[in-house]
Amino acid sequence: INNVTAVISLFVVLALMQADFAARHALEREMRKSLARGDFRLYYQPQIDNSGNVFGVEALLRWQHPQQGMISPQTFIGLAEETGLILPLGEWVIKTACAQLVAWADNPAVAHLTMSVNISASQFRQPDFVQLVTEIVRRSAVRPAKLKLELTEGVLVRDIDGVANRMHALRRLGISWSIDDFGTGFSSLNVLKRLPFDQIKIDQTFVRDVLRDERDQGIVRAVIDLGRSLGMTLIAEGVETEEQREWLGACGCEAYQGYLFSKPVPADDLVAWISSRSGRLELRPVHAAG
Ligand code: C2E
Ligand code: MG
Ligand code: MG
Ligand code: MG
Repeated sequence: INNVTAVISLFVVLALMQADFAARHALEREMRKSLARGDFRLYYQPQIDNSGNVFGVEALLRWQHPQQGMISPQTFIGLAEETGLILPLGEWVIKTACAQLVAWADNPAVAHLTMSVNISASQFRQPDFVQLVTEIVRRSAVRPAKLKLELTEGVLVRDIDGVANRMHALRRLGISWSIDDFGTGFSSLNVLKRLPFDQIKIDQTFVRDVLRDERDQGIVRAVIDLGRSLGMTLIAEGVETEEQREWLGACGCEAYQGYLFSKPVPADDLVAWISSRSGRLELRPVHAAG
């Protein structure tokens, strides 16, 4: 009986693996087709400083599936990384973001914006990553100082010297670096010490309950102090209420991104939104906490 059970279990497991494999394979095929067909989009989420000015945006990838509608990156970025599709997809993202910056350069409402672009670990680890970005920047004729690249801590745990070299190479062009989802991964303070980051993004998991949770408050205060002592700018992600923003601002946070201001939206909607609020100072002034 035991043997029979074992054999049946094995078949069930194999069947499930097969089904999972088939589903993932189908999704991968769909992604390839969509990339060729132009079904991917960049949405843009505004970044706001303490004066209420929109100074930048983060480009966030969306998959406009012909049948299934809009698919969030959470469902496909992981698979794109495993299959290597992140490389052409990530290249498309950088090119599209640069083209958007160039297109905005003629529009006074948005000409000043910086653009943050998410870079996945495998993309960053490609031997020709620096060359690829350099080429794209050169061909698009974008001002490199407008470009901010976001890395998550996962990229940073191995080969810190190699990582630093790449970062420095692109920094010499004028591109800046931001550490995304800070505090959620495995990196150590050594990473901040040795890598030339310009900005820390405070992860939304610390922001969400920051008005209630004393531990989150302690972490956020410490991250802000740490970043400021190292000469980095700080931006908080996932800011949904004015109370959160005020609390963060009182602790020394300098910039915010979140639904309080806007979801990620298509380029046209972003331009309309910025134009409609220009000249209005919507934030209450922040008083630094002692
Ligand atoms: P991320 O880079 O940390 O982006 C922030 C995520 O938080 C975005 O999710 C954004 O829509 C969401 N968000 C913004 N404000 C709020 C808020 O107030 N409340 C809440 N609950 N969420 C908020 P999204 O667009 O689904 O992207 C998820 C992740 O997918 C990104 O996290 C990033 O890691 C990855 N991703 C997105 N686009 C790209 C891309 O072009 N390349 C790569 N490699 N990864 C990307
Ligand atoms: Mg990001
Ligand atoms: Mg993040
Ligand atoms: Mg994230």
